[in-house]
Amino acid sequence: MSFKRAFVWLATAFVAAGSFLLLSIDLSDDSGADEGIVVTEPTYAAPRPLPDPVSYPVLDQPQIMPQIMPQLLPIELRPALEPGWPLTLTYHEAKADPAYYLAWLQAKNPGKRFKALLATVTGYCPCPICCGAGAHGVTRTGVHTSVEPYGIAGPEALLRRGVHIPGYMFETEPGKVWKTDDTGSALNDDWDKHVYHFDVRFQSHYWARNWWGFRTMVVYLTE
Ligand SMILES: [Zn+2]
Repeated sequence: MSFKRAFVWLATAFVAAGSFLLLSIDLSDDSGADEGIVVTEPTYAAPRPLPDPVSYPVLDQPQIMPQIMPQLLPIELRPALEPGWPLTLTYHEAKADPAYYLAWLQAKNPGKRFKALLATVTGYCPCPICCGAGAHGVTRTGVHTSVEPYGIAGPEALLRRGVHIPGYMFETEPGKVWKTDDTGSALNDDWDKHVYHFDVRFQSHYWARNWWGFRTMVVYLTE
């Protein structure tokens, strides 16, 4: 073999080795194996059901509490809607003077007759603590609590009955007669024990449990 021929062989072998090395580097770059990247095959799980439209638990809203807390202002300082009658009366005023409260309620609802009852009134919200693990945010009458955040629940026997509970929504709906739109097992159990038990609905668990809590009081049922 001549020197020229050996040089051509060597050069060819060198170029071939270099191109193979480049190709192998390119291939390894594509796979990412030399950089420690583990490529796993994506797994496709079965489609999960969409979450409930209302996300529970409902967040507490202590920042707007001071506006809703009862303000025990003297009656004469408040603007009157009708001449002689105060715009609103609080739970405490109803407790202090039930006769005056009933007269005020009658003036607010002309033509309606009321029956006063001693009842247990508790607060609730649409959360799983208040409404059980299967809470779905829909009342007994089929209204979603996002549409009707406020309302009164009573025993099944008094569903859709007009009821007024002193102190409930007294600032925004003073003297309002609500139609009960929800019910509950505790309310029905108490009904069976001849105890009137109503539940007033709030958007927040804090308001329901800590602000309203548990009250034994006089409520007004329409006749
Ligand atoms: Zn609750």
